Amino acid sequence: MIENPAYDWIEKSLSTIEKAGWYRTVKRIESIPGAMIKLDGKSLLNFASNDYLGLASDQRLIQAATRAVQRYGTGSTGSRLLSGHRPLHDELESAIAQLKQTEDALVFSSGYLANLGTITALVGLRDLILADQYNHSSLKKGAVLTGGKVMDYKHCDLEDLEQQLSTNRAAYRRCLIVTDTLFSMDGDICPLPDLLDLAAKYQAMVLVDEAHATGVMGDKGGGCVNYFDCSDRAPIQMGTLSKALGSLGGYIAGSKRLIEFLRNRAPSWIYTTGLSPADTAAALAAIKIVREEPQRRQKLWENIQFLQEALADLPLLPSQSPILCIRLDNPTEAVKLSDHLQHKGIFAPAIRPPTVPFSRIRISLMATHEPEQLQYLVDELKAVL
Ligand SMILES: *Cc1c(COP(=O)(O)O)cnc(C)c1O
Repeated sequence: MIENPAYDWIEKSLSTIEKAGWYRTVKRIESIPGAMIKLDGKSLLNFASNDYLGLASDQRLIQAATRAVQRYGTGSTGSRLLSGHRPLHDELESAIAQLKQTEDALVFSSGYLANLGTITALVGLRDLILADQYNHSSLKKGAVLTGGKVMDYKHCDLEDLEQQLSTNRAAYRRCLIVTDTLFSMDGDICPLPDLLDLAAKYQAMVLVDEAHATGVMGDKGGGCVNYFDCSDRAPIQMGTLSKALGSLGGYIAGSKRLIEFLRNRAPSWIYTTGLSPADTAAALAAIKIVREEPQRRQKLWENIQFLQEALADLPLLPSQSPILCIRLDNPTEAVKLSDHLQHKGIFAPAIRPPTVPFSRIRISLMATHEPEQLQYLVDELKAVL
């Protein structure tokens, strides 16, 4: 540690984290992504990935990325408004707008940056943000950065949301409701149509985060907005290229004027380097596959249905998605179960407080899991629970 008393607090803080059992370390995966991975030299069945459609190792994405590197090089070399804009960005933004059934879209260098930049552009000191208590970190941090008033409502609880709207809305200039559509640590989905009705009633804007829903939910893979068929009523749709789309980067889809506004006002888009050619091309290839191969999504949903039914007598959290969580009484039990599964050749992480309010094993499914692999997971879980 650095010999300077000004930094002593870091040592103290770290030891508090260790004592609470919250200390985190990375897991080193030494193989290409997929249903099977290699971790610490051992082959494991992978239930820990956001690569829902198995696209991160798809040859078409790999080739698109490779061609883009050969043609445009490795880096974008500047911000989009200076030297970092390529024809690939235009193509990707059109493809996203088409997938999301919006007029236009804007690609950020990550989903986290898309949320930070968009929320800070839309909301100021005189405004109110109402946020689901289980929202992703990027939505929470974005809200705080605005300097506006931020209030949480109970998870997916529209009565609580309406209560807060009726009490507080009038005291603020603008209001933005922010929510994940598919909640990443629970796997449940937000009651979007009713939430949009409430927003209309109280003249509030709505930003929906479709990070886990894109490519997964809806008949076209357009996300929960597509699933609930309300694209004409959800003006600000955020998502990421890094989950089902197997690449890196984030986006906002919306009206032409919204996107023009963000190009002029979103600091995390204006003052950061454009998405790399390889990531841009890979995401573009992925969207084409999402459009042309609905059978991948269908396979994913068959896997979800199989596992939901096979595990029905375990304490599952309510889920309508590829994310299935088994609730455990405390962090120690969750870690013990995860370690046991790993010993049996299964990678399914324990998720603990403070990330979530109660401990669980989180299983995320892929379209490329085979029935025998799912059955093996079921057998091993039932053997211990
Ligand atoms: C992963 C995630 C993000 C951030 O996306 P990145 O592209 O990984 O930065 C934002 N919101 C939600 C709900 C997410 O799950």
